[in-house]
Amino acid sequence: MATVIDGKVVAADVVAKVKAEADRLIAETGVVPGIAVVIVGHDPASQVYVASKGKKAKECGFNSIEHALPAETSEEELVAVVEKLNADPAIHGILVQLPLPGHIDSGRIIQTIAPEKDVDGFHFINVGKLGTGELDTAFVPCTPAGSMLLIERALGRDLSGLSAVVVGRSNIVGKPMANLLLNANATVTIAHSRTKDLPGLCRSADILVAAVGRPEMIKGDWVKPGATVIDVGINRLPADANGKARLVGDVAYDEAAATAGSITPVPGGVGPMTIALLMANTVISASRAAGLVSWR
Ligand code: NAP
Repeated sequence: MATVIDGKVVAADVVAKVKAEADRLIAETGVVPGIAVVIVGHDPASQVYVASKGKKAKECGFNSIEHALPAETSEEELVAVVEKLNADPAIHGILVQLPLPGHIDSGRIIQTIAPEKDVDGFHFINVGKLGTGELDTAFVPCTPAGSMLLIERALGRDLSGLSAVVVGRSNIVGKPMANLLLNANATVTIAHSRTKDLPGLCRSADILVAAVGRPEMIKGDWVKPGATVIDVGINRLPADANGKARLVGDVAYDEAAATAGSITPVPGGVGPMTIALLMANTVISASRAAGLVSWR
C-alpha cells in the first residue's frame, strides 16, 4: 500500500513557519503582514473560503481585512477598490475571490492587482516569472505551490530523471504545476480532454498530478507501480442513501493506493496546502516590502 502524504501535517508545518516569520518581521521592522480579501456577492462556497482565509490569516498574526461588496457592484467600482488596496502600504496581499458575478470581467480585475501584491499569482507578470523560472521574485499560485511541497516531501527537491504527467491544463492549477515540475528538472507532459490514450500516458508517470474536476476518473490501473500521485481534484458527490454527501478527488483512491508509492488523500491532501501557501505568499510579500530577504 502507498504511503499517505498527509497535507494537514505539511500545511500545519507551513503555517507554523509563516507565523514565526511574521513574528520576526514585526519584531525587526514593526511591519505587520496585511491581507485584504475582496468578495462580491453572496455565493455560499465563496463565503466559506473567505471566512477560512480570514481565520487563518489571524492565526498567523496578520492584519486581515475583508471587503464584502454587493452582487450589483460595477466593474468600475471593483477596480477602484483594488486600486485603493494597491496604494495602501499596510496591505501586502490582495485576493479577489473568484468567481465574480457575470457582469464583471475577472481578467481585467486580476490584471488590476499590483503584481507585487498578487498573492494568488494570477497576474501576467507573475505567470511570466514562473514560466521563465524567476521564482525568487514571483508569486506562484497557491494550489500548485502547495502540491509541489507535497511532492518534495515524497521525492525531495530535485526531480531529475523522473517523468511527470499533469492531467489538466487550467491557468490556476495544471499549467503552473507543469512549470514548477519542469523547474525541478522533471520531464513533464501536460494532458487534457483531447489527449489520446490517457490511461497509457498516466501509466508512464513517476509523478502523476490530477487536476481535472471529474470524480475518481483516474483508475488504479492507470498508475505506475511506485508512482507519486497528487490528487488536486475536489468533487462533491450527491448524498448517498444515508443522506451523507461525500468529497472525492479525481483519482479512485483505494485502487490507486494499492499501486502507488505515495498518494495524497481527498480530503486532507492538497486542500489544506492551498490556504497555507496563501499565507506564505503574504508574509513573503510583506518581507519584500520591508526590504528583508524573502523567506521560502
Ligand atoms: P478546470 O479549469 O475545469 O480544468 C480542468 C482540466 O481538466 C481542463 O484542462 C480539461 O481539459 C481537463 N479535463 C476535463 N475532462 C477531462 C478528461 N476527460 N480527460 C482529460 N482531461 C480532462 O479545473 P481546475 O480549476 O484546474 O480544477 C481542477 C480540479 O481541482 C477541480 O476538481 C477543482 O475543484 C480542484 N481544485 C482544488 C483546489 C484545492 O485547493 N485543492 C484548488 C483549485 C482547484 P480541457 O482544457 O481540454 O478542457
